[in-house]
Amino acid sequence: MSVIRVLPDLLINQIAAGEVVERPASALKELLENSVDAAANEIAVTLMQGGIKQLRVADDGIGIVAEELALALARHATSKIATLDDLESVNSLGFRGEALASIAAVSRLSLISRRRGERHAWKVEAAGSDVTGLQPAALESGTAVEVQDLYFNTPARRKFLKSEATEYGHCEEMFRRLALSRTDISFTLQHNGRKIWQLPAGPMERRAATLLGDEFAAASVILDERAGSLRLWGMASLPGFSRGGRDAQYFYVNGRFVRDKLIAHAIREAYKDILHNDRHPAFALFLEIDPEGVDVNVHPTKIEVRFRDARAIHQFIYHALNKALSAPIRARHESTAA
Ligand code: ADP
Ligand code: MG
Repeated sequence: MSVIRVLPDLLINQIAAGEVVERPASALKELLENSVDAAANEIAVTLMQGGIKQLRVADDGIGIVAEELALALARHATSKIATLDDLESVNSLGFRGEALASIAAVSRLSLISRRRGERHAWKVEAAGSDVTGLQPAALESGTAVEVQDLYFNTPARRKFLKSEATEYGHCEEMFRRLALSRTDISFTLQHNGRKIWQLPAGPMERRAATLLGDEFAAASVILDERAGSLRLWGMASLPGFSRGGRDAQYFYVNGRFVRDKLIAHAIREAYKDILHNDRHPAFALFLEIDPEGVDVNVHPTKIEVRFRDARAIHQFIYHALNKALSAPIRARHESTAA
């Protein structure tokens, strides 16, 4: 009697979905990242009922050729890497080729795309393991992915969904993360037919003021520090602006939002002498580093990274931030002394 068996593809994808698609906001993250990777200039997000009923991301990016639409939904199918070398120097947000397969395994998904020069768009639809054939569809340009009824076929998972308001909150936060990181792209967000955000492409300062508040923008320092191949830039709050929680802290490594203890520690140290320890700074900071110096393939959602030279990164962030935060104070002192 055999006891070990190879699992069917649908189940494999549903298991993977447990990691990659924890909730509507995680599906939204994957779709937004795909649009960014497709070099979109405009990304439109439409949500219904907190993203549980419907989640649609439409972009004007490069699109997918008709013959590859079904392939895009297959597991481990990606256009972003081909070799281990590519993996080590990856520049795109995606590369694992599993997001669309995972989302499709736990929802009703439709994928519509139109490459430049095509006479019309094409569409494939998937629900669980059923994928329809190619059908002609209407779309001006780019790609639109629509995800409906998340977890309709995995009731155990569906039970873990919180209220619509809570799931919406997570979606909006995910939207904010992506929108802060790419101010060269225009974004819109609609929920239940209401326009929530309309963000034209423009400078970082303007988008940060819109998404994080004018008070933050007015009381923060703009920095851009370099050391060797490292660069830290963005905005960080001055002591006059602080928060009771860590909710307005956005840190990106090569354009990817990350949470990292080492980075958090370096930032805390830089604020240690100027901020009460029950207050927290707000920031949108971007670390640029040679892709070979950082491993992003640590976790399926890529929110964790590993640095080759963690000490150097820590020092650089601490010093860059410290310098930026003390510069305006020095300037103030000088002007009052004069
Ligand atoms: P990954 O992003 O890791 O490659 P995905 O499952 O998210 O894997 O997507 C699979 C492939 O489908 C991508 O590599 C890309 O070629 C294509 N694709 C997905 N979304 C888009 C999009 N919005 N525009 C163009 N191509 C897309
Ligand atoms: Mg992807």
